[in-house]
Amino acid sequence: MMTDHTHVRPWRMIERRKSRKIRVGKVEVGGDAPISVQSMTNTRTHDVDATVRQIHALEEAGADIVRVSCPDVDSTVALKEIVRQVNVPIVADIHFHYKRGIEAAMAGAACLRINPGNIGSPERVREVIKAAKDYGCSMRIGVNAGSLEKELLEKYGEPCPDAMVESALFHANILRDNDFHEFKISVKASDVFLTVAAYQALADAIDCPLHIGVTEAGPLRTGTIKSAIGLGNLLWAGIGDTIRVSLAADPVEEIKVGFDILKSLGLRHRGVNIIACPSCARQGFNVIETVAKLEERLAHIATPMSLSIIGCVVNGPGEALYTDVGFTGGGAGAGMVYMAGKPDHKVSNDDMIEHIVGLVEAHAAKQSEIETTPEAV
Ligand code: SF4
Repeated sequence: MMTDHTHVRPWRMIERRKSRKIRVGKVEVGGDAPISVQSMTNTRTHDVDATVRQIHALEEAGADIVRVSCPDVDSTVALKEIVRQVNVPIVADIHFHYKRGIEAAMAGAACLRINPGNIGSPERVREVIKAAKDYGCSMRIGVNAGSLEKELLEKYGEPCPDAMVESALFHANILRDNDFHEFKISVKASDVFLTVAAYQALADAIDCPLHIGVTEAGPLRTGTIKSAIGLGNLLWAGIGDTIRVSLAADPVEEIKVGFDILKSLGLRHRGVNIIACPSCARQGFNVIETVAKLEERLAHIATPMSLSIIGCVVNGPGEALYTDVGFTGGGAGAGMVYMAGKPDHKVSNDDMIEHIVGLVEAHAAKQSEIETTPEAV
């Protein structure tokens, strides 16, 4: 892997907000834990096969945590079987029905997404908290601008950061009063400004880990942009311990976009980071087509590494300097391959895709060999 130059480039450093650390099953959230990436299934939860299939696809894409809706008793019954068949910790999404919360905890959920102020009497709240404690579940308080308490809307007139934070603290205090501290909070809105302002205020008001996301961000392209602006802004300021990109698209895309946001900020590294030029009349090969093919062919690589695919010598050698593998287009139907920043050998445009895939796979295999070899003592 290329050297991390962050320490000599202070303008690249992000100082993360110091939050308490909690656990979502085997995954740590908060403190110095890596920022986790999560998504949510959109199958019918009682359809165990379809739900497990989707969770496996999310696991393969790198999901650290997956949330599953539990709107009815069939879902919490199915949850037990789902949890048995997957590796990733499962968060059960519960609204209002305290019994579903208890059932989900018993079924093996690692976390309950539940707002304690919405599930009824203090006795019911205590029962859910007891189940969470007994079965080792954490909780997420999920405040959403679209479903704020009536009293808060009356007090503030409309959803605003103060109202969202007040709602979050109201639910958090119920948990704290019951001596339950294994919780994280989200304060999401579909509006980027409201989302960012609410999280900024919440980050100052409480020390628990924050689950960040722009809710209902929209379809793949616009949702990705909104999420990158909203989450990017927060993460850059050090806020956020786990992220969910919320897209009206295949949930696997949410995981990919989540990692891409974290990768862009150097907060997490997974898979091949492809650096490519937009191409122009100077390109020595078809950059756009090549990059699309390489992206598809290299999607299975989880090892963090970088690859530069640049159309010509204007920017090729410079970009290749900082990548593990590089290719720069040249004349006469061939280009230069760079290894660890240095010109290494030439390859023809016709053979370059297979050749680069081979080099990247070999580099990834070597990296995982290094990681799994015990250090000499
Ligand atoms: S690197 Fe070369 S081919 Fe790519 S955009 Fe720049 S000048 Fe054009």
